[in-house]
Amino acid sequence: MNDCLFCKIINDEVPSYKIYEDADSLAFLDINPRSPGHVQVIPKAHYRWVWDIPNYDNYSLVVQKIAKAIQGAFGTDEVWSRVIGEEIPHAHTWLFPDPNKAIGDKKDFEGNAEKIKINL
Ligand SMILES: [Zn+2]
Repeated sequence: MNDCLFCKIINDEVPSYKIYEDADSLAFLDINPRSPGHVQVIPKAHYRWVWDIPNYDNYSLVVQKIAKAIQGAFGTDEVWSRVIGEEIPHAHTWLFPDPNKAIGDKKDFEGNAEKIKINL
């Protein structure tokens, strides 16, 4: 029995706005965004902390790829990142444009997902 919300998103048991996916990683929009285009980047395997991810170098390259795609998509190159991990017990990295500078409606999930995807 796995009650992990992010594992449910990976398995499509919970809907999400996915913006990037490969064999090991998934990126999707946070449902409670701090700014337009707020993304969570997670490993597809369940690890408690990002520091537990065995191929962390590959994961970090995905984080960079998504951050580069967010840069400029919402009117600012300033992309904030946060790695704490206390909210959801599945490794994740927050990425979101500066809330004071980002342009757009943070609740326009479809539009914001498209803005990021065309920059990937
Ligand atoms: Zn999980």
